[in-house]
Amino acid sequence: MIEIREAWPGGPLRQFAKDRPNPGWGIPHASGGYAGSYVCRVCLKTAKGGVYTSSGVCESCHRESRAKSTPAYAITPILVEGENGVCG
Ligand SMILES: [Zn+2]
Repeated sequence: MIEIREAWPGGPLRQFAKDRPNPGWGIPHASGGYAGSYVCRVCLKTAKGGVYTSSGVCESCHRESRAKSTPAYAITPILVEGENGVCG
């Protein structure tokens, strides 16, 4: 049975198996079982090229999140006139 858990506390998700599902699966792991591919935290797909260790997401999710995030220069500060405002 393949389970998905954190590779290390706070780290990216990774497949682990006590018994090897097939001879070519994963690599022997210090925990006694076998470790498979890293799994993206967002899409939960196994990432062949690995995942970013800082965020635990795959390449495509990483790119998507970067594209969606609001660049700093696009944020316009909203000035609110308080009770002590000079207007009025
Ligand atoms: Zn992903």
